Order: sequence, then structure tokens, then C-alpha cells
Amino acid sequence: MKNKLRAILVKQSKYSESSLILQFFSREFGHIGVIAKGILKKNEKQQLLTLCEYELIAYEPKEQGLWLYSEANLISNFSVYPNSLSWATAETGVELINQLILAQEDITTIYDLTIAYLKYLQQVQDNAVLIFWRFLNRITILSGIGNPLTNCGICKKAISTPSAYLKSKGELICEECLNDINISSDLIILSPLGQNILALLPEIGNHLQEIKLNRAVINEINSFFELYWQVHHKQPLHLKGLSVLAQFYDS
Ligand SMILES: [Zn+2]
Repeated sequence: MKNKLRAILVKQSKYSESSLILQFFSREFGHIGVIAKGILKKNEKQQLLTLCEYELIAYEPKEQGLWLYSEANLISNFSVYPNSLSWATAETGVELINQLILAQEDITTIYDLTIAYLKYLQQVQDNAVLIFWRFLNRITILSGIGNPLTNCGICKKAISTPSAYLKSKGELICEECLNDINISSDLIILSPLGQNILALLPEIGNHLQEIKLNRAVINEINSFFELYWQVHHKQPLHLKGLSVLAQFYDS
């Protein structure tokens, strides 16, 4: 059956001399693989760009397997950004989406959030990585494991300033609990900048210019989110993009 989908092109890889396998994230079905036979022999205008949103026309496979490509019409061009950091941040967001195992009822929400993320990044001049963390936090919540930023892992109260986290639990702890706890190798105390970023994260879009990032704080916040993900999903979050983003800053 021929279907018309809205879909972001995540990845394209060569299948033969003239054909490609296209990985799309579609608003209707989530992740799908599409074989585009003969597409490389078509003219330049008919070649596709990664990260862009298309109206995709394709034939649904009878059983599990690849869809068959018919045509794609560009809806939004998300292949162009103000600078290479914003571009790498967009790529990392799509890499994250590509790793998710999505429940059918969440696909539309996550799709719309991804489109909003790419659109937003196209106007971000500074510190796009901050927008990535906001996105990662939203995706973490949507993946069903709670909000890493809201409650203390020990007293369970709402956190105003996240001070530290516990490696074994993957959870932040509040200032009061930090004062009562014994220092151990399980306890990771956040830098003042790391604390500030996590506290501001829900409204970080208003603070992009004033925050001075460095490689250490990027690794610190990446490590916290990776750990939270690993402890709560019981599987690691492997994003190549995370180390790429750190490389944009001096150590
Ligand atoms: Zn507490």
C-alpha cells in the first residue's frame, strides 16, 4: 500500500551503485527503513539531505522489512545552521531519537518535539549544547523514567539547587542532604557552573549568551544524564555526538 508520511531523514547509506537505504523518523510509524532504488541516477534536485523533513511517499512492506521509496517532497530544510556547533547539536539530537524504542502512542509527541528542536537550533548562535540538554531532559521524561532534575534522590523533596549526585542511584541530591551525607566515592559533587546550568535548564533558552561553557562542565553534565539514563533504563546511552560537542570547547 502506498502511504504519504511526514518524516525526518536520519541517515542514508549506499545499497548499490544507484540505490540507497534511507533511515527516516516518521510522524506516523516512528523509525522506518526505506529502499530508494535508482535514486542516485536521478538529478541533483531529487537527492535528499539528512536532517530535513519530507513528505515521503512510499510503499509499506507486507511484513517487517524495508519500505519502497516512491518520492519525497521537502517540507522544511533543517540541514543549515548558523555555525558548526549548532549543526552538531542538531545531529546529536537526531542520533538520540534514533536510539529510542518508541511506544506507538508517543511517536507524534516526540516527532513534534524533534521538529521544534531543529527549528529552534537554526537561530541559536551561542552554546547550542545547552539546548541539547534541555531536549535530552524532555526525551528522558518522555521515555518514561521521570524527570532527572526535579526531586532529591534521598529526601525526595523538590530540588531548588542540585548540588551533587549519587552514582549508584543516578540521582541528584539537594543541598540539605549533601550536608548530612558522608563523602564517598559514590558521591559526585557538581561544579558551581554545572549546578547553575541544571537549575536553569527548563528556561535555558533565556541564558544562552551569559553562560560560559568549558569542556569539563560539558563532560560533567553529559555524564550525569548518561548515568541517570543507564541506571533507570538499565542500558547505556551511547551517543557519539556527546563527545563531539565537548570538543567545541577548550578544556
Ligand atoms: Zn534531599
